Amino acid sequence: MRTPQRPGRPARHADGSTAQVVAFVRDLIDRGLVRPGNRLPTERTLAVQIGVSRASVRAGLRALGAMGIIRSRQGSGTFISDAPSLASEPLSFLAALHGFTGEQMYEARRVLEVGAAGLAAERATPDQIASLADEVASLFERMGDPLRFLNHDITFHRIVAEASGNPIIGTLVETVSALYYERRRRTAEQASDRDLMDAAEAHRRIYQAIRAHDADAARRAMHDHLVQAAAYQAQEAASVPHRITKRKTPDHPPKRSA
Ligand SMILES: [Zn+2]
Repeated sequence: MRTPQRPGRPARHADGSTAQVVAFVRDLIDRGLVRPGNRLPTERTLAVQIGVSRASVRAGLRALGAMGIIRSRQGSGTFISDAPSLASEPLSFLAALHGFTGEQMYEARRVLEVGAAGLAAERATPDQIASLADEVASLFERMGDPLRFLNHDITFHRIVAEASGNPIIGTLVETVSALYYERRRRTAEQASDRDLMDAAEAHRRIYQAIRAHDADAARRAMHDHLVQAAAYQAQEAASVPHRITKRKTPDHPPKRSA
């Protein structure tokens, strides 16, 4: 990375110094001075370049981290995220505040992921198809372990979204998946063996359609899977002490290990 010039910045009274740090990094990105995967200057250097305290730099970096723009790596500094990812906290916060329902989440997933599956059938690379095959195999192996099953389930959907070849769709699916995971892991242990067997089969059908480059079949299989999964999750939630899926008020999840 070239040493960034100090960008022209708005008068200090308008923004807090945290916002100045965010604006500074945005400016570096806009001017092409940093790219995905690049390391940012140290806190000390940033403080000097921006003209704010190191505490402000840290606050600004925390804000950028919450947006998914940067990542800290222990011992090696702060980097611009190399893959687009919206941090899930903001959506999770909104979900808690406005009481997103399970039905709304599945509806959002259908809108995004049915289209993604169709595109994946057209565009998936051999590597992505091989990764999907691995995830399907893992789903069948993890039938007795609902939480690990859930991890492979989420990974499968992430690969499909990535294979759509559209990073905007990939990012949105990732964000909604994180929210989904957060909720689903509270109920996943209630999943019956039959549900998990059906789910594993559904993923295999999606995979086979993508491998066959059959976009219609991939969309249909993804649609059917998400409709079925929504129905199963509603049953799981009904057997968990706190009713989770239909609440309109903020969630206070039962503490369960995940
Ligand atoms: Zn799934």
